[in-house]
Amino acid sequence: MFRWQQAEGKRHALDGPFAPRPGETFTALCGAEVTVARRDVPQLGGHWFDPTCAECAEEWLRQEGQACSSEARCLA
Ligand SMILES: [Zn+2]
Repeated sequence: MFRWQQAEGKRHALDGPFAPRPGETFTALCGAEVTVARRDVPQLGGHWFDPTCAECAEEWLRQEGQACSSEARCLA
Protein backbone atom coordinates (compact mmCIF):
# COMPACT_ATOMS: atom_id res chain seq x y z
CA MET A 1 0.00 0.00 0.00
CA PHE A 2 1.37 3.39 -0.97
CA ARG A 3 1.37 6.31 1.38
CA TRP A 4 2.83 9.81 1.42
CA GLN A 5 5.45 10.75 3.96
CA GLN A 6 7.29 14.01 4.28
CA ALA A 7 11.01 13.66 4.93
CA GLU A 8 14.12 15.75 4.33
CA GLY A 9 12.33 18.59 2.60
CA LYS A 10 9.99 16.73 0.28
CA ARG A 11 6.77 14.79 0.48
CA HIS A 12 7.82 11.35 -0.74
CA ALA A 13 5.76 8.22 -1.30
CA LEU A 14 6.61 4.82 0.11
CA ASP A 15 5.20 1.35 -0.13
CA GLY A 16 4.44 -0.09 3.28
CA PRO A 17 1.71 -0.92 5.77
CA PHE A 18 2.85 1.63 8.38
CA ALA A 19 3.96 5.24 8.34
CA PRO A 20 7.60 5.59 9.42
CA ARG A 21 8.25 7.07 12.83
CA PRO A 22 10.65 9.92 13.61
CA GLY A 23 14.25 8.80 13.26
CA GLU A 24 13.34 5.99 10.88
CA THR A 25 14.80 5.84 7.42
CA PHE A 26 12.80 4.63 4.46
CA THR A 27 13.36 4.22 0.77
CA ALA A 28 10.94 6.35 -1.20
CA LEU A 29 9.39 5.28 -4.49
CA CYS A 30 11.81 7.62 -6.27
CA GLY A 31 14.73 5.67 -4.82
CA ALA A 32 15.82 8.27 -2.29
CA GLU A 33 16.70 7.09 1.19
CA VAL A 34 15.33 9.64 3.61
CA THR A 35 14.97 9.91 7.36
CA VAL A 36 11.79 11.10 9.01
CA ALA A 37 12.08 13.93 11.51
CA ARG A 38 9.65 14.78 14.28
CA ARG A 39 8.43 17.83 12.35
CA ASP A 40 7.49 15.49 9.50
CA VAL A 41 4.84 13.73 11.58
CA PRO A 42 1.48 15.53 11.77
CA GLN A 43 0.49 13.53 14.86
CA LEU A 44 3.48 15.05 16.65
CA GLY A 45 2.70 18.61 15.66
CA GLY A 46 4.46 18.60 12.32
CA HIS A 47 3.17 20.18 9.14
CA TRP A 48 3.44 18.89 5.59
CA PHE A 49 4.48 22.14 3.99
CA ASP A 50 7.15 20.59 1.81
CA PRO A 51 6.58 20.12 -1.93
CA THR A 52 5.52 16.78 -3.34
CA CYS A 53 8.34 14.74 -4.84
CA ALA A 54 7.56 14.63 -8.56
CA GLU A 55 9.50 11.40 -9.07
CA CYS A 56 7.50 9.67 -6.35
CA ALA A 57 4.22 10.89 -7.80
CA GLU A 58 5.23 9.58 -11.22
CA GLU A 59 6.31 6.21 -9.82
CA TRP A 60 3.10 5.93 -7.79
CA LEU A 61 0.99 6.45 -10.89
CA ARG A 62 3.14 4.09 -12.96
CA GLN A 63 2.92 1.28 -10.41
CA GLU A 64 -0.80 1.79 -9.86
CA GLY A 65 -1.29 1.70 -13.60
CA GLN A 66 0.61 -1.58 -13.81
CA ALA A 67 -1.43 -3.13 -11.02
CA CYS A 68 -4.62 -2.14 -12.78
CA SER A 69 -3.58 -3.40 -16.20
CA SER A 70 -3.05 -6.88 -14.73
CA GLU A 71 -6.30 -6.90 -12.77
CA ALA A 72 -9.53 -6.45 -14.65
CA ARG A 73 -11.42 -5.35 -11.55
CA CYS A 74 -9.50 -2.09 -11.59
CA LEU A 75 -11.49 -1.07 -14.64
CA ALA A 76 -14.70 -0.82 -12.63
ZN1 LIG B 1 10.54 10.90 -3.77
